[in-house]
Amino acid sequence: MNRSITPHRRLTPGSIDRPPRRGWRAAALAAVCLLVWSSTPAGAKVRIVATTPTIADLARQVGGDLVRIDTLMRGNENPHNVVPKPSFIMKLRKADLFLTGGLDGEPWVPTLIRGARKTSLRPGGSAYVDLSVGIALKEVPAPGQLSRANGDIHIFGNTHYLLDPLNGAIAARTIADALARVDPAHADRYRASADALEARLRDLTEDLTSQMAPYAGAPVVVYHRAWPYFLDRFGLVKAGEIEPKPGIPPGPRHLSDLAQTMRAAGARVVIVEPYNSLANARSVAQRAGAVAVVLATNVGGVDGADTYEDLFRVNIARLREALEGASAAAAKPARGARP
Ligand SMILES: [Zn+2]
Repeated sequence: MNRSITPHRRLTPGSIDRPPRRGWRAAALAAVCLLVWSSTPAGAKVRIVATTPTIADLARQVGGDLVRIDTLMRGNENPHNVVPKPSFIMKLRKADLFLTGGLDGEPWVPTLIRGARKTSLRPGGSAYVDLSVGIALKEVPAPGQLSRANGDIHIFGNTHYLLDPLNGAIAARTIADALARVDPAHADRYRASADALEARLRDLTEDLTSQMAPYAGAPVVVYHRAWPYFLDRFGLVKAGEIEPKPGIPPGPRHLSDLAQTMRAAGARVVIVEPYNSLANARSVAQRAGAVAVVLATNVGGVDGADTYEDLFRVNIARLREALEGASAAAAKPARGARP
């Protein structure tokens, strides 16, 4: 390696009559190597763009003060229906890492990537991080069965995998690996943070699962097909959906059929996402002698869901309250409900 810098030394004024300063040269060489091999200058924060506030919170917990995060959508927005703004592209162009949920869950992302015009941000590029990699997806179509017959979204499998806290731990590891790649000097810190987050998420899951134990197997209706990971993790069973297919609004016939199905199944709670029609959810719930409850699908989706862990604490607290209320109401004859 010394040979490669010899010509420069010969051309440096004063280098001929001074003894070679090997210590200084080695340090300078090391600094050059660091600049070449690391894509972020020493001391600069890694710039992350995250599609959702949930992904942003995972990145914050893994990256700490070594990262700067921009989040594109808000927690109470429908991730499938975001309208990208020109400012999104400006943020994306400056990103060292772009974190996305992948699959077809954020159909507005490909337009954004095209607009940013940077090869590294495209799928397969060095800055593109798809958090669905490594997740055991649910509702994946069988080989050769890929179609839009079940709606326009979720065609590669269900995209709401971060609603299982243990999938959040897998995503955190993917984020740590990506950060270690662009900022290798802090690789150990990123991986230690992901490990610590995984431990917290395991404790949280154990705690919340035991809180839900009294309701094990309870049937519930959901508005959008956003909940298979959450329901499986916390022991509930889906009895029906307000959207006839993911992303397709319900008609009156479907709603009245659903109310009947709910009664037959004994489902007493309707879960509705913050961005879907609470009026529709309440209407079905009322006809079936049930209650509607708004649960967050993303960090920031409802009051108090300020972190990834809080998202689950708040959702489980709301759900338990709804299930308690529903069973108290079931003990009395339902007012206005037809037999
Ligand atoms: Zn969805």
